[in-house]
Amino acid sequence: MKLLDGKELSLELQKEIAAEVAAHIADGGRKPHLAAVLIGNNPASKSYVGHKVKACAKAGFVSSLVERSEDITQEELLTIVKDLNEDESVDGFIIQLPLPSHIDDQAVIKAVKPSKDVDGFHPENVGRMALNLPTFLPATPGGIMTLLERNGVKTSGMHAVVIGRSDIVGNPMTSLLSRNSDPGNCTVTQCHSRTVDLKSHTLKADLLIAAVGRPHFITADMVKDGAVVVDVGINSIADASRKSGMRLTGDVDFENVAEKCSLITPVPGGVGPMTIATLLQNTLRARLASTS
Ligand code: NDP
Repeated sequence: MKLLDGKELSLELQKEIAAEVAAHIADGGRKPHLAAVLIGNNPASKSYVGHKVKACAKAGFVSSLVERSEDITQEELLTIVKDLNEDESVDGFIIQLPLPSHIDDQAVIKAVKPSKDVDGFHPENVGRMALNLPTFLPATPGGIMTLLERNGVKTSGMHAVVIGRSDIVGNPMTSLLSRNSDPGNCTVTQCHSRTVDLKSHTLKADLLIAAVGRPHFITADMVKDGAVVVDVGINSIADASRKSGMRLTGDVDFENVAEKCSLITPVPGGVGPMTIATLLQNTLRARLASTS
């Protein structure tokens, strides 16, 4: 078994991005600017945004944070989006999900200017991705594709099983793996909570992508010998040995599944850092596109 090390690769990508930023500045350009909109006090959202801001600084980006309380109105949030769309100093921005339940998140996502939608969630960008046209790939599945590519995983002809059908992970992952590209060219089965006999599907997976949000959901008896396993899950579980009393773990029972795999991502240190690196790549592309 070999680790698909997203932490190490993300550091390499951050260096590559920093070098491109330096070259752009030497050419008379300016630092890319990523803005993040954070609504409410969700600790996980705060932590994700914190990581993104730190990564921006490391790569030589400008970052800014627009923070508002949980009771923001839809109209107020749409005004923030409009201002960011019009602000020429901002190259790309993200609206950290989930949004409070009284907000229509699709209406907010649709209001983002597609050329600044570095999360790749706007319907126009989702459509471009489905048609294999140049666009911003959603950061998590985009990062997984890079992780597979840079580790030389030959996905062509593989039977991939994706568990999950969210708009941010499962659906775009299915689309990217099935398209005629490298990595890609997989035969994809997409599973979800209504799938009958999930194990009969996962056992056929040469490439298994778990994006369920349930700790240790994928057990060793569900995995084929020699499979490549990508664990997207980020779950917080109790751990009395930690000062915080909690630790992060994935959707895969890593200890037992790892023995059966040819390659596997750890949690933390697998998909998470790749997500952030991809967001930076998207923002850099937005900056370069606005100058061309
Ligand atoms: P969602 O809750 O939106 O989607 C979970 C999916 O899992 C749904 O499609 C659901 O099916 C499916 N599911 C739930 N229970 C089962 C079951 N028993 N059998 C089969 N399928 C099931 O989550 P996300 O896609 O947003 O995120 C998934 C995980 O990835 C989470 O842990 C999240 O924290 C993590 N994540 C990690 C990121 C990273 O950077 N590493 C980025 C984004 C997310 P149904 O549609 O039928 O409800």
